[in-house]
Amino acid sequence: MSFVTDAFALKAKSIIKNLEKRNMEGFYCENSQALLDTILPMFENGSSIAWGGSQTLNECGLMDALQQAGSYTMIDRTTARSPEESRQIFAKSVLADYYLMSTNAITLDGELINIDGNGNRVACLIQGPKQVFIIAGMNKVVTDIGTGLSRVQNIATPPNTLRLNKKTPCTVTGSCENCLSPDCICNQIVITRRSGHVGRIKVFLVGENLGF
Ligand code: SF4
Repeated sequence: MSFVTDAFALKAKSIIKNLEKRNMEGFYCENSQALLDTILPMFENGSSIAWGGSQTLNECGLMDALQQAGSYTMIDRTTARSPEESRQIFAKSVLADYYLMSTNAITLDGELINIDGNGNRVACLIQGPKQVFIIAGMNKVVTDIGTGLSRVQNIATPPNTLRLNKKTPCTVTGSCENCLSPDCICNQIVITRRSGHVGRIKVFLVGENLGF
């Protein structure tokens, strides 16, 4: 192990302890392969799985592994062909056995910070799916909520608005201009400081850079 991964492991250990105080369960995986080895056996055969839009979920290989396993009902909101179909898929996602997402940031103290455009992702984080599995590269760790909010709007969101081809000030300047433009994707800001249900939210910290 390098000193960087040693430091990641130590930092993750302390975050996991703080997550426990907040009724959330934490795991540390040294890399994406270790993540797959840890998380895949946790899914029950025949269960339903929904997920929020996330670069991390694709980069770590989890979505490919679940699709290839073929033993789950995958609730894919990107298959919707109309607003009504999208609404129906969202309703199914709320009732899913597992909801997968990343977090835009996580503090050393174990708080989750998420910013959402439509709100479907943060809605499922807050309530609905039986279990929420959050995958986060160690690049998402921040010292506190203020730093996290700044990270999300200045570092994570501009690449996302560019990826989604949005017309927002941050696609021009690369930084947050605190806009209220029609294409703004920062409509909901959710801080998860505690889960009301012990162990419903599981956070998998991965010792790599994943997502924005
Ligand atoms: S508030 Fe607007 S400008 Fe700021 S990051 Fe979000 S979309 Fe970009």
